[in-house]
Amino acid sequence: MSYTNKIKKIYQDQLEQIRNAGIFKVERLIHSSQAADIEVEFPTGSSLKTVINMCANNYLGLSSHPEVVKAAHDGLESRGYGMSSVRFICGTQDIHRELENRVTEFLGTEDTILFPSCMDANAGVFEAVLSNEDIMISDRLVHASIIDGIRLCSAQHDTFKHSNMQHLESKLQLHSDKRIRMVITDGVYSMDGDTAKLDEMVELCEKYDALLFVDDSHASGFIGKTGRGTHEKYGVMGKIDIITTTFGKALGGASGGCVSGRKELVEMCRQKARPYLFSNTIAPVVVSGVLKVLDILSENTERRDKLEENTAYWRKGLTNAGFILKEGDSPIVPVMLFNAKLSQDISKDLYDEGIYAIGFFFPVVPNGQARIRTQISAGHEIHHLDKALDAFKKVGKKYGILGLTKQEIIQKYGL
Ligand SMILES: *Cc1c(COP(=O)(O)O)cnc(C)c1O
Repeated sequence: MSYTNKIKKIYQDQLEQIRNAGIFKVERLIHSSQAADIEVEFPTGSSLKTVINMCANNYLGLSSHPEVVKAAHDGLESRGYGMSSVRFICGTQDIHRELENRVTEFLGTEDTILFPSCMDANAGVFEAVLSNEDIMISDRLVHASIIDGIRLCSAQHDTFKHSNMQHLESKLQLHSDKRIRMVITDGVYSMDGDTAKLDEMVELCEKYDALLFVDDSHASGFIGKTGRGTHEKYGVMGKIDIITTTFGKALGGASGGCVSGRKELVEMCRQKARPYLFSNTIAPVVVSGVLKVLDILSENTERRDKLEENTAYWRKGLTNAGFILKEGDSPIVPVMLFNAKLSQDISKDLYDEGIYAIGFFFPVVPNGQARIRTQISAGHEIHHLDKALDAFKKVGKKYGILGLTKQEIIQKYGL
């Protein structure tokens, strides 16, 4: 078939609809390495501008850390550039197995298997360990990659209201006839920065004989006293049956993910998970970088401690200035604006002030809950945060929203 004008028009019309709906995604180009200060170009060809990055998942500031970069160089020298094979044929090096063991130790689990990404880990894990006699019971706000994994799995599926333990319990009772019940949640939810109540979930899973799955992508490396994740924060290390996480956020930010947990479940993934069997794993250069990240994090808790201090400083500054924040203590700090256009206008004005922070609105967040999501990093210094606070105050004043209640903002700007 040829790409006829008629077919071409189908796609042109769809793209036009996306543009008209105001949700066409345009990517800005960063001309520097990922860090607190970045050089950004708008695709319209405007000149380069140095801005403070308040929207990366670079929670620990390790994306361009000199020791990580050096370890990656060394890995490139000693293990080469590519594997040119999936793992079970001839694509496994000693360092891949070493990284799996190190992650197991770091997360306090029994075993770990690497995947090209956490998206792939989530796409493969459910189908590898569950069958149509089983049920997956997921929180209604889990990450898109988990939703895809659920779609690819033949087990039955049900949901519970976000973080609602009574509702979860009723679903566990309802499905008591299934062979295996698996409860599925994110550790930290990326839009609100709230954490799953893992202590209560473990209790429920023990009471109703269910497995617990946690995607800790927005937690591994910094949540909990020594940064092991949400399970450490809630005192349930060793009690989570499956943890998936990414190396593409706090843990160096390059790419890669894993499934970590019960020995037999990890072994099932090695035998059956399709993104593991049919796609190349993490490149040696990245494996070497992540190994160094784990070295750095195991030495002391300096970086996650600094992140916690920065986050407290940032929350206090914005609150004192009169902004409305989502409650919480994670480095995901949403500044609530409610009105979609207001979130876009403020984001643009902040950019003009040298602050890069993105406004989110429906359908990424619920209708009427538009916001600017800021993300704090251990790579931020106090001077970064002070400059960003000044810009937020200046712009907040311009729009007359400082000190207003939610109702007052909605009265002023509508929903
Ligand atoms: C970012 C993210 C992923 C995807 O991670 P990749 O390794 O980039 O594929 C999966 N789950 C959650 C909860 C995430 O936040």
